[in-house]
Amino acid sequence: MKQFACGDVVPGCDARFEAEDDAGILGQVATHATEDHGMTEIPDSLVQQVTERISALS
Ligand SMILES: [Zn+2]
Repeated sequence: MKQFACGDVVPGCDARFEAEDDAGILGQVATHATEDHGMTEIPDSLVQQVTERISALS
């Protein structure tokens, strides 16, 4: 399992995500960014930031 905290990229956001793999995390983050952060598209730079901060959930 993998985990990601949105607050690592967006200060002040306390949303956290868990998924089987990076793709699962990125899918949840894309939905969250659209619905909660009002982003209409997810730039490659953000995808890279998120990917770098995804960590293993033991
Ligand atoms: Zn967030």
